[in-house]
Amino acid sequence: MKILASAILFVVCSLSVFAQVKAPTESVLDRFLRYVKIDTQSAEDAGKVPSTEKQLVLAKLLEKELKDLGVQNVRVSEFGIVYGMVPGDLPDNSKVPTIGFIAHMDTSPAVSGANVNAIIHKNYRGGDIVLPNDKTQVITVEKNPDLKNLIGDDIITADGTTLLGSDDKSGIAEIMTMIDVLRNNPQIKHGNIAIAFTPDEEVGGGIDKFDIEGWGAKFAYTVDGEQLGDISNETWSARTATVTFHGRNTHPGTAKGIMINSMYAAGAFLDAFKQAVPNRPETTEGREGFLHPYVANMSEETSTIKILLRNFDINGLAGQEETVKKVVTDIQKRYADVKIDYESKLGYLNMKEVLKDYPQLTDYAIEAAKRAGVTPEIRPIRGGTDGSNLTARRLPTPNLFTGGHNFHGRLEFNSRKGLEKSTETLVNLVQIWAEKSR
Ligand SMILES: [Zn+2]
Repeated sequence: MKILASAILFVVCSLSVFAQVKAPTESVLDRFLRYVKIDTQSAEDAGKVPSTEKQLVLAKLLEKELKDLGVQNVRVSEFGIVYGMVPGDLPDNSKVPTIGFIAHMDTSPAVSGANVNAIIHKNYRGGDIVLPNDKTQVITVEKNPDLKNLIGDDIITADGTTLLGSDDKSGIAEIMTMIDVLRNNPQIKHGNIAIAFTPDEEVGGGIDKFDIEGWGAKFAYTVDGEQLGDISNETWSARTATVTFHGRNTHPGTAKGIMINSMYAAGAFLDAFKQAVPNRPETTEGREGFLHPYVANMSEETSTIKILLRNFDINGLAGQEETVKKVVTDIQKRYADVKIDYESKLGYLNMKEVLKDYPQLTDYAIEAAKRAGVTPEIRPIRGGTDGSNLTARRLPTPNLFTGGHNFHGRLEFNSRKGLEKSTETLVNLVQIWAEKSR
């Protein structure tokens, strides 16, 4: 890639620049190891934010640590969101937009995050990594090609019985260490920096309570991506459709000529849907969108099928809706006595729709990565982030890498270099914003 030549150039100068930087009071790895010990697993359908009280344990620790680092306006909101502001050190901070950094405190409900026993595999020599407390859990080179870039690095994993919590305690540790580095290095000039740590990213909902105005950032970054260099300014757009089949129920013993069983129409719908829709989760990757029936509730009287519509092209969603409606029309003809309703709801829009008007957010992140000697790669996200919600609410927020891998599972890992280079990228990024805006 053409990025490579300039990346090499930047390695040379970045080493000399970062070599002059005074180390943080505490290393990013030590911070990370402290945060992953705290169980912050969120829960689906809790009906409140935060969904679990234990997330507040980390929120309160971060509140204290931010205050100890001299961060101003530190507070934990009633929803467990931690906010703070690192004041700029320029003669006139108002010339540089306030840049926000966000990481989430919760870990996925999919796998336990209690009693995480982080293991440091020092000086990795290559090959598969067997996790010691469940030997069926193996991080293989075949499934993790990035491992070959980590030879000589210290790799951090869980012990095979839990997730690690790199998603997103890596992001938290990196943001905290960035603040620490800036505090120890007054020669690094930057504008105001807004900090936020959110609960319930994994289950949705936390970000709905985010106080954009009170926080004060003009632009922001979520620090919640995966391998070194991955920068995302694009997610797909999302709608959810619900198809409802209305039949008529009665006692089956006396149902002759009366009962209309909606389940047959629903079953026929699924069968026809599969014929009509080649793009499904199991057949797509990269920038390909899909249609995906993901839950059905069936009974004689009423059956419902919910369908995810996902498309990187915002106009593509309309075409996908037409596809679903056409299947509905066909089935309605075949099952005239079952009334079929269709409705759909917008989830979120591809953040690119907004971010295309602010190319500097991505450009500066690319330059920040290069200055840290990391090769940037723009990768669209097949999902939503806290940033998709914020971007839709007019706070443009792309996503930055953390060095992590295999999120939401027991094979999750990061590395010392992953944590350090991600931190260095954040320090570079605030400097670049100051350089370019003055
Ligand atoms: Zn995450």
